[in-house]
Amino acid sequence: MTDRIQILKPNDFHMHLRQEEVLIHTAPWAAHWFHYVLAMPNLIPPIRDAHDASDYAFHIFEVVHDHMKASRVEPRIDRTRFETLTSVMLTPETTAKMLSSTNHRVTAVKLYPRGATTNSDHGISISEIARKHELFDFMQEHGFVLCIHAEDPDAPVLQREQRFLPIVYELVRAFPRLKIVIEHVSTAEGVAFVLDMPVTVGATITAHHLLLTLDDLLGSTLDPHSFCKPVVKTEADRQKLLEAAFAGHPKFFFGSDSAPHRTEQKQQKGSAGIFSAPTAVPLMLDLFHRSGVLEMFDRFMSTNGADFYDLPHNEEYLTFERKELPPGTYRVPGYEVLQADLPLPWSLLTT
Ligand SMILES: [Zn+2]
Repeated sequence: MTDRIQILKPNDFHMHLRQEEVLIHTAPWAAHWFHYVLAMPNLIPPIRDAHDASDYAFHIFEVVHDHMKASRVEPRIDRTRFETLTSVMLTPETTAKMLSSTNHRVTAVKLYPRGATTNSDHGISISEIARKHELFDFMQEHGFVLCIHAEDPDAPVLQREQRFLPIVYELVRAFPRLKIVIEHVSTAEGVAFVLDMPVTVGATITAHHLLLTLDDLLGSTLDPHSFCKPVVKTEADRQKLLEAAFAGHPKFFFGSDSAPHRTEQKQQKGSAGIFSAPTAVPLMLDLFHRSGVLEMFDRFMSTNGADFYDLPHNEEYLTFERKELPPGTYRVPGYEVLQADLPLPWSLLTT
């Protein structure tokens, strides 16, 4: 029986670190578990250009640095090799010039159909996408990645992803060298679509879409903490996501879509978003181990995404030992963390 597991330090290609006091909670967890984190731009106001992105990345760095200086504060950050990758929100005003400044270049442009999710009011409407063709052309020539929240907000809730796929298909045809990521793919149809597309199209998969279904959300009492967009789907959909992640296929990689809201906000307003940054890595390790596919863990959690984004593979390792962590080890006061109240069978060995 394996008693120790060593993994490459994972990457998270889709995280909502938020801002102000929420960032104090998210940034240390990001640096604790991940090397590269692609920070999403839907702040208030949104990250619109490379200047905003540079300021945000520096602010995240400062929060991580302050956390490291305050010794004996959990989570521990032993290694400083943490890098924020930045993105800008695609708005009707976004131009090619806004993607770089003298000292910063963003990694990705995030397309939110207006109204699709939290703070997406500055996104673009589906009819406006055609007006951004000059920008997409620039992006494919200069290696910027287009990340898409692929849901049509006007479609019925369980069909939003399927209904958006033809729009992605048109973009793939028009811009054959543009790298496109379907974020948080959540349906069997979405997985099949990504597999059918050329190598320029990849997808992130979240921990919660691999672990939860509609029954967790509304099978007994309504659970606002299992609510996110895109909503978790059926068991058949979940099985297709698991297949994609477990196969180690290079098009699929981890993006947590970790998106905290305060507990009372979730309970009273039902805000969409699941906070998984503190638990996602140990939960995924347990899932891959239980499923007998541990050899695919590093591909899904670390190298597939790095390859897609043309980044070097991480060189740091994290070592876990078989030692049950008591429930609540990764609890964060004021927030509900994904499955933080379940015992976790592997604990991180700190050096
Ligand atoms: Zn997201």
